Amino acid sequence: MDLYEYQGKELFARFGIPVSDGRVAVSPAEARAAAEALGGPVVVKAQVLTGGRGKAGGVKLADDRDDAEAKARGILGLDIRGHVVEKLWVEKASDIAKEYYLSITFDRGAKKPLFMFTTQGGVEIEEVAASSPEALVRLHIDPLVGFQPWVARSLVYGGGVEDPSEQKQIAAIVEKLYRCFVECDAMLCEINPLIVTPDGEVKALDSKFTVDDSALYRHPDIAEFRDTKAADPLEALAREKGVTYVKLDGSVGILGNGAGLSMSTVDVVVVAGGKPANFCDLGGGGDAQGVVDALEVITRDPQVRSILFNIFGGITRCDEVARGILEALDRIEIGVPIVVRLDGTNAEEGRQILADAAPPNLYVEPTMLEAAKKAVELAA
Ligand code: GDP
Ligand code: MN
Repeated sequence: MDLYEYQGKELFARFGIPVSDGRVAVSPAEARAAAEALGGPVVVKAQVLTGGRGKAGGVKLADDRDDAEAKARGILGLDIRGHVVEKLWVEKASDIAKEYYLSITFDRGAKKPLFMFTTQGGVEIEEVAASSPEALVRLHIDPLVGFQPWVARSLVYGGGVEDPSEQKQIAAIVEKLYRCFVECDAMLCEINPLIVTPDGEVKALDSKFTVDDSALYRHPDIAEFRDTKAADPLEALAREKGVTYVKLDGSVGILGNGAGLSMSTVDVVVVAGGKPANFCDLGGGGDAQGVVDALEVITRDPQVRSILFNIFGGITRCDEVARGILEALDRIEIGVPIVVRLDGTNAEEGRQILADAAPPNLYVEPTMLEAAKKAVELAA
């Protein structure tokens, strides 16, 4: 789960990482009130789950409350890379002398958390990595050893920070960020920019924060951050029904059992010249309720023109899945053609059950590729 900047900053603050005082606002009037409460110049920031807000005009300085209200009016409703701004974060403006970058994430290749630090912050980290890779310090943490003070010193010295007060403050932030990352079950904690003010104070001016969905059950306070209104309504429905569903932007709806098979199905649809409309994993089961739930979610997407059902029977038996499909078709009306590929345990029986019932608009294909081709053809 990705957090909004203000939510990430709230977690940063809990771990003692310095951030600016601010308020959430959903209207120009609220932005005005926030500026008034904070006093002095403020920065009005679009709260959307994407980066590059500054460049897109979603971050504006405001001199006073009138200006904050005007800037809020300009930013609310803005479309930033497909995300419409409905919420703002108004915080006390900071003077910036330097912009650094600090993050911790998982390096799946190394199977370890990875810290990255550079004094060339403010811009996207990919740019720094490409243009001056020597300026980017990368340091893995051995999870069995955990955080050690030398890690922070290594980052700070390696990055070339010379001022002793800055060194000390950044090292302290590195340690707090590590605790924050581990204790929140985060996948990513990024501070860009980590600024130094003209007075020499170091603080987090932005936050990018991703928490592991599978760990949310033990963080009810973080789970509460979820903004059900802003989330994709289909993904919300899927979550409610316990279906693993990711919306994509093509026209072939995909239903597989198991994440690996569902992902392969996405690839095969692309190979067949089509575009997947989603990724949907039935999980291990294939009972009627699971099939109904998944079909309800998929058919709710108006972009879906055909559905590809790809089942490999292991513990799940294909005859049961076939019965599940028939029962689902009895219970809900499906307006688009369905292509089914069944293989594995009891595949013969499964295919026979479907052939005997022969529901309209249902096609059974023997292989994954043929099924994908058929589904792509029907979606055209
Ligand atoms: P992003 O573009 O989505 O990464 O949003 P950021 O929160 O990083 O803001 C973008 C840029 O706006 C920063 O790199 C700063 O240069 C600038 N900015 C943000 N907050 C302030 C502030 O309080 N004072 C000043 N002077 N600039 C700010
Ligand atoms: Mn930023």
